[in-house]
Amino acid sequence: MTIDPGEQVIIETSDASTGRIHRPEDLPAYLAVRDPHRVNPAGGPIFVRGAQPGDELAVTIERISLAEQGFVRAMPGGPVLPDVAGPTAIMVKVDGDTLIYPGGLRWPARPMVGVIGTAPADGIVYTAHPGPQGSNLDCNAIRVGAKVYLPVHVPGALFALGDIHASMGDGEVSGTGVEINSEVQVKIELLPGQAHTRPWVEVDGAIVATGSAPEVHQAIAVAVAGLAGLLGERYRLSRTEAFMLISARGDVRVGQCCGGLDATAYATFVI
Ligand code: CA
Ligand code: CA
Repeated sequence: MTIDPGEQVIIETSDASTGRIHRPEDLPAYLAVRDPHRVNPAGGPIFVRGAQPGDELAVTIERISLAEQGFVRAMPGGPVLPDVAGPTAIMVKVDGDTLIYPGGLRWPARPMVGVIGTAPADGIVYTAHPGPQGSNLDCNAIRVGAKVYLPVHVPGALFALGDIHASMGDGEVSGTGVEINSEVQVKIELLPGQAHTRPWVEVDGAIVATGSAPEVHQAIAVAVAGLAGLLGERYRLSRTEAFMLISARGDVRVGQCCGGLDATAYATFVI
């Protein structure tokens, strides 16, 4: 798809299993064909006319509509609780703005976008892998109302989005949130010559920097460095002054730490 900057787009997204899991019994057949690098299908690429390397996209998440149910999965051998049973899946029903876990436990839906990004400067990037182009960020700040800033590395940017969660706990400790099919409406704007080195977010009066790296503590360092840069720009602070401000008032959170791929973190500062 090709658009002009400022256009709205509606993207129909498949869940992380490409819609193969309708009931827990579907899990073994899915796992038999699952390529861990190619989970999280994303809708795109969308070519943004005029976008050039060095520019930045500003993508506003305007709406996330959820399907009727999603799933959570667990597999033994992961980094957090390797001794859990499984592989196993639980279906989670959507009732308006509420999610229903088996046994009747209900909690508010918290829809968010797991995968969002542009194309990398070169090579192939898989939708399972986070990086400077975005992709599998699993950042709870990327929700309705958020404006997500993405660096442009190739002409047209080649934007894509997918891996919606009806709810995902920070850390995504089992490797999934409530993975769900959805429809997402975004507005894509172009900021010429304004690229930052990594995706960052404005949401509900906060600025949020993202990080990814093989280990969680490294991902946190990347996110904090990014936030120090954003605060330095905004408030004319040195890197050290910004670092101390983040320590005093910023919040650092883990995006996902489920192993097998780079961990993600995000650092939030409420203005
Ligand atoms: Ca994800
Ligand atoms: Ca996921």
